[in-house]
Amino acid sequence: MRVAFLGLGIMGQAMATNLVKAGHEVTVWNRTPGKLVEGAGIAPTPAAAAQGAEVLWLCVSDTDAVQEVVFGKEGAVTALNEGMIIADSSTISPAATVKFAQRVAEKGAAWVDAPVTGSKIGARDGTLVFIVGGDEGPIDRLKPLFAAMGKKIFRMGDVGKGQATKLVMNLQIALIYEGFAEALTLATKLGVDSQQLVDLIGATMVKSGVVEYKAPFILGRDFTPNFPLRLMHKDIRLTLEAAKEARVKLPGLETVEELYEMATEDGHKDLDYAATLTLLEKWAGVQVKGQAA
Ligand code: NAP
Repeated sequence: MRVAFLGLGIMGQAMATNLVKAGHEVTVWNRTPGKLVEGAGIAPTPAAAAQGAEVLWLCVSDTDAVQEVVFGKEGAVTALNEGMIIADSSTISPAATVKFAQRVAEKGAAWVDAPVTGSKIGARDGTLVFIVGGDEGPIDRLKPLFAAMGKKIFRMGDVGKGQATKLVMNLQIALIYEGFAEALTLATKLGVDSQQLVDLIGATMVKSGVVEYKAPFILGRDFTPNFPLRLMHKDIRLTLEAAKEARVKLPGLETVEELYEMATEDGHKDLDYAATLTLLEKWAGVQVKGQAA
């Protein structure tokens, strides 16, 4: 298929690369020039990338960025036409998604919200899980593209439901990770070996994909971003906004949000969100380490 891919960050670069490897005709655009994908064409603007494409795939930071690349001055909207599909793998506001979908429908284009989970390694290995909202027709047409970049698709309902579901998934990731970080900090203070604790977790009902993914990085003291803290913070805020609108109280996530505020003040926003651990360590006066560190 002819695909225009906008946004070559940690996730987008790897996703576009997998589309090229699967034989699709890909044209990329990134706000900051200089990022490339081998085998893909490069366009100077979002509108130029979208010209003649069957599918416009987005993977940019946040709601404002999606608004900019689609509806902004050089946005893709001028190149949209009947039958085109916009698939958005950015994590953004569900309410804004519904509005964006209505706007592109006026041009005969369909919007599919397709946020992902699986992080940097999932994007690199083509094993992402897509959490999708939209009409079944366009989602079916996107299947070869989902298959090139991921291992599973879950359709959660109409437009916006993919984003709503993604937020509740990240709510859990944020809370599970903070539980793990607090456990590691207290264990270290009490003289329990971190690697042994991780091994024990893996053999019990406490085990989780979050712990499995994060443990090697933490025990090696590698906080380079797989999922930058600033983006998890954005998702926590989106989740709290959605909860407020729905009159749902999330006391656990509200507390974790305060921790992200403090981590940001400490200068950690561009590190992985695992770096929230360093605040707990600072307060406890310990440092969590594995044999690799
Ligand atoms: P990233 O590495 O920070 O990349 C962000 C991308 O968005 C870059 O290409 C950036 O362009 C572009 N961008 C930001 N603001 C823009 C604007 N106003 N106009 C146009 N482009 C703009 O982020 P990422 O980790 O790839 O994440 C991308 C999306 O996927 C986010 O919504 C994130 O929440 C979601 N996500 C990430 C992960 C993960 O583990 N990393 C997992 C699941 C979902 P520049 O190069 O010019 O800065």
